[in-house]
Amino acid sequence: MKVGSKHRVWAEIDLEALANNLRWIRYGMGDAFDVITVVKADAYGHGLPQIAGCLMQSGTHALGVANLDEASAVRSVGSGWPILMLGACFGKAEFEELCHDDVIATISSSSEADELSAVACKREKDVLVHLKVDTGMSRLGVAPERSLSLARQIVELPRLELEGVFTHLSVSEDEDEFTHEQLGRFRRCISHLRENGLTLRKVHVMNSGGIAYGPAPVGNMVRPGLLVYGIVPPGRRKPVIDWLGRLKPALSLKTRVGLVKKIGTGTSVSYGRVFVSPETRKVATICAGYGDGILRSGSGCLEVLIRGQRCRVLGNITMDQTIVDVSRVTDAQRGDEVVIIGEQGGSLITALEAAAACETIPWEILTSITQRVPRIYQGMAVA
Ligand SMILES: *Cc1c(COP(=O)(O)O)cnc(C)c1O
Repeated sequence: MKVGSKHRVWAEIDLEALANNLRWIRYGMGDAFDVITVVKADAYGHGLPQIAGCLMQSGTHALGVANLDEASAVRSVGSGWPILMLGACFGKAEFEELCHDDVIATISSSSEADELSAVACKREKDVLVHLKVDTGMSRLGVAPERSLSLARQIVELPRLELEGVFTHLSVSEDEDEFTHEQLGRFRRCISHLRENGLTLRKVHVMNSGGIAYGPAPVGNMVRPGLLVYGIVPPGRRKPVIDWLGRLKPALSLKTRVGLVKKIGTGTSVSYGRVFVSPETRKVATICAGYGDGILRSGSGCLEVLIRGQRCRVLGNITMDQTIVDVSRVTDAQRGDEVVIIGEQGGSLITALEAAAACETIPWEILTSITQRVPRIYQGMAVA
């Protein structure tokens, strides 16, 4: 799709950047680690089938999804590609779907294991299972002390094959001590399972924060999401690796100026009249709002680029339009391209910066971009 004037808001996705990010991560992790790239939430807002296709061409070893619709979307572009369902399945119907699409199951409890085995037997299909251990996230996963009995149950149940074990870090960007504690629990758990004769072919822990901030990864796979999209998770810990600077954000978010006008002293701007102009200003109405995923919490704080210059949002962001201050942009005009996230004329607004302005995290910035925003792929032939 070409960028035509018909687009009011669009996301440009640089597939070459995405592929390079994955290459850097693979290079950085070395041969001892395979990569499960996480493509949940429409590939972090980048568009699932296209991103899955690009990642498969670029050497990811597996893809991680959060639900079975995502799994089926990946399956439709890659038959035979390993897909790990990171979420729980809440009933037989879901396990049926999982079997149908040959998806690897995450199992945290004995009842899930029983149910999945029953479905797999009925369909006469073998299903791969990754056992999830809860080392401190309290989301999915079995308590470490119960992991051996659950692992044994999985091995003994017909049609289930215990392929892997994993856990998830909760403060990998921010806290050394608890991250080490989680890794310690996980290591002890893995040793205990192996000492009891279990074969674990795939063992993984590290999310983007774990990869970026260390310590040395445990196991033989890593599970990055954000990092592959070219964003280093913000955090209080010290990054441990030097190639992080090589990663490049794959997504830019753009719109256009719909109107430029002057407002006088005392003029109020947008719903709620939270901004009243203290002087004469030149303002531009841009064609994007919270209906496109420009979070309303960025009202009054967020900046965008017009003609390479930073322009602050004035007043409340509305559903389809946002008013920005262009007083210092001499020749701002209707139709000008506006960069909400990305680069323009040597200036840069990152998803990290936008997240800070909206008091949220970059993950939410990306996954908030709504369906009405077309994704335009560049830099590589899309499979
Ligand atoms: C989302 C998710 C990831 C990826 O997280 P990032 O912080 O984006 O790298 C990895 N593992 C699990 C279980 C997840 O839910």
